[in-house]
Amino acid sequence: MQFTKLRLLGFKSFVDPTELLIADGLTGVVGPNGCGKSNLLEALRWVMGENRPTAMRGSGMEDVIFAGASSRPARNYAEVTLTLDNTQRLAPAGFNDSDRIEIVRRITRDAGSAFKVNGGDSRARDVQMLFADASTGSHSPALVRQGQISELINAKPKARRRILEEAAGISGLYQRRHEAELK
Ligand code: ATP
Ligand code: MG
Repeated sequence: MQFTKLRLLGFKSFVDPTELLIADGLTGVVGPNGCGKSNLLEALRWVMGENRPTAMRGSGMEDVIFAGASSRPARNYAEVTLTLDNTQRLAPAGFNDSDRIEIVRRITRDAGSAFKVNGGDSRARDVQMLFADASTGSHSPALVRQGQISELINAKPKARRRILEEAAGISGLYQRRHEAELK
């Protein structure tokens, strides 16, 4: 699956609608300190189902909503939309009947967050599973956070193994087995 577009609205510093077309190959994001490079990667992780506020550098999930600036009031919601090209039909069952997959996650103050996939209501878990086998999940080693390289070097063997399993694309398997055992 190819990421083709990321759209942000009221997410962290991206108060105005911002659309990024993602071309084939390597994408680099450059800019001065504080311009929002890390916020962009966090938006990508968030729309893929990341549910730990700390991974968003916040203490609660609502911290991703634009908090206001000297000349702009705070927003009441944040929304991120990720568009995937699925013409090769690589998406897991349940998502695999269209050429294009559009995932929308929106969080509203005091009302929590909700997902839509191609316009239909979806659960966080379903969105996480959409990515779990493709090594593109929100915890994927394909997304390298600032400071993560040194964390990897200093990781204990167990934690390092988890990273390798995600890279090998088998962590979705473990999750499904775990759920099957609970049933
Ligand atoms: P660096 O090069 O230092 O890593 P960066 O380009 O990665 O910088 P970010 O960390 O993505 O920058 O952006 C930080 C900016 O985002 C700060 O100015 C911060 O105030 C702003 N910001 C973060 N969360 C919010 C929010 N909820 N509302 C408004 N602004 C926010
Ligand atoms: Mg940064």
